[in-house]
Amino acid sequence: MVVMSDTKKMTWDLSQLVEFDDTAYIMERMQAVVKVAEEFRAKHRGKITQYDAKQVLETLREVDRITLEYEGPFTYAHLFYDADMTHPDASKLFNQFMNSSTQVNQLTAFAELELGQLLKEKPELVEDPVLAEYKHYLEKMVRQIPYMLSEAQEEMAIIKDKNGIRAWSNLQGDWLSTRTFELEVDGEVKSLPYGEIIQYYQSPDRDLRRRAHESVYQGLAQDEILWATSLRSVCSDHLEMVKLRGWETPMTQSLVVNDVDDETVDALMSTIEKNVGVYQDYLKLKAKVLGLKKLGNWDIIAPLPDSPERKYTWDDSKAVVTQAYDEFDEEVGQWMKDMYEKRHIDAVVRKGKRSGAYCATWHKGETAYILQSFNGIMSDVFTQAHELGHAMHAHLGTRAQNPTNYQISYCVAETGSIFGELLIADKLLEEAKTKEEKRAVLATVIDEFGEAAFQVSTRVWFETLLYDALRDGKHLDGEYVSKLWLQARDKMYGDAVEWLPEMKWWWTFKLHFYMPGFRYYNYPYVYAQLFVYAMYRLYKELGKEFVPKLKALLAAGSSKSPRDLAAEIGFDITKEEFWQKGIDQFKEFVKGFEATL
Ligand SMILES: [Zn+2]
Repeated sequence: MVVMSDTKKMTWDLSQLVEFDDTAYIMERMQAVVKVAEEFRAKHRGKITQYDAKQVLETLREVDRITLEYEGPFTYAHLFYDADMTHPDASKLFNQFMNSSTQVNQLTAFAELELGQLLKEKPELVEDPVLAEYKHYLEKMVRQIPYMLSEAQEEMAIIKDKNGIRAWSNLQGDWLSTRTFELEVDGEVKSLPYGEIIQYYQSPDRDLRRRAHESVYQGLAQDEILWATSLRSVCSDHLEMVKLRGWETPMTQSLVVNDVDDETVDALMSTIEKNVGVYQDYLKLKAKVLGLKKLGNWDIIAPLPDSPERKYTWDDSKAVVTQAYDEFDEEVGQWMKDMYEKRHIDAVVRKGKRSGAYCATWHKGETAYILQSFNGIMSDVFTQAHELGHAMHAHLGTRAQNPTNYQISYCVAETGSIFGELLIADKLLEEAKTKEEKRAVLATVIDEFGEAAFQVSTRVWFETLLYDALRDGKHLDGEYVSKLWLQARDKMYGDAVEWLPEMKWWWTFKLHFYMPGFRYYNYPYVYAQLFVYAMYRLYKELGKEFVPKLKALLAAGSSKSPRDLAAEIGFDITKEEFWQKGIDQFKEFVKGFEATL
């Protein structure tokens, strides 16, 4: 329910990002930074390997200074484009954004390589008190050193990947985007692209949900040779790189990037494995609520029958979300109010706007901007709370850290946002007037966790099975890959779900499995869910005493490892007992859900 008079309030004001809100000026600023990058290159290229601690410090500070100085125009350009692609200035700004970013990256790529070289020869620099501010950043660089190839090999890999695994990955994505699937809706047969047909997965009409799944996966099955060849190529290439770079396991690369370790991810994944029954119990309960003997795979994320269709105006949503944050902490509550008052949220639904939602940090402004399309349903309120949780992270992190120390690991990046969702869940539960309203809120929370923690875990297992099979010399054709997928899937769902036979092709569409040069994309989602649920449990125990702990964690940005950040709250993430706390909180929500039946 969107009232016309809300339109201005719901449109962001990007003028704060720049000195002059003028397209020509913003274009010129984005061009100017290329010149700055050229000067930076002329000044440092070939010299960094000889720098002492003080010179390294000055160079890193110089990079941070430049980042902050030009961040505004760049942020302006990409936000402007995402909100209104059809605006005549949008592509102009966005093209300049892309050109300038590429040029700057190319011109400055040497700096990290040379710094890596320097650290390889003088690892003691990491401990130098002069560089204390950048200590963890340097530690992360040192961790990468043993896996680096020679400069010539690195260059060769980039060139070969372009027409090798990158091409396979692009082929998968491009092919998927040209597929259409037929579906009869209200007596009319429609031919829909993938992005559109999936909306019917959440239709209240059970038969429609089932037919949408059938159509998609029968369609995808026809191209099994293409999907299997792409996947096999990308995975086989990764195994070659594992050997060449000396990564200990196929997961090592991802662990290094995410700043976590084997012990932690092992403890996390084996906790999930021990608790598949907890998820299966919930799915069986959901079947009961839907009046079914067993859930079909097309029912897993289905809406509950007779859920109250409560609608929210922009002001309703703002009130409930800001109040939730305000009750958590007044300072945070004030920041969240500012996000609305200063118009940092673009929530209007308009043609030519990027779908989905995100939060972009504006480091220099010590704040953030949020994009979403608000239609006034409950999940929009959750999305708003989620993105504002990212904004809370940004408000705390940018005040405390330089840009180099605010490159958050995927494992930590969702901490504020998932926590924010739980704050809003609390608030909505408190406000719920009927059992049905309460049940709808809990189902939203539980289904979200079910997907992000449990369903996503099957992808981690699946990926491991792929590498194991390749190492065993198996040929991964479509049927064989499907067999592995079923093995991972059935370990999670047991007998709780009835699957359409064509669901064995589920793996074919998932972009994550085809990502070139970056593998094991999925476990950080699982990490984030369980971590935040464990934290939320602690919040329930400690109350206000917990608040400064969360604020300190978010303020630390990437200046400490996820393991150290957790240790400061008293959590040992290398232990299964810790991750079990997250599961226990999930069980609490399920218990609450059961009580509404
Ligand atoms: Zn998020």
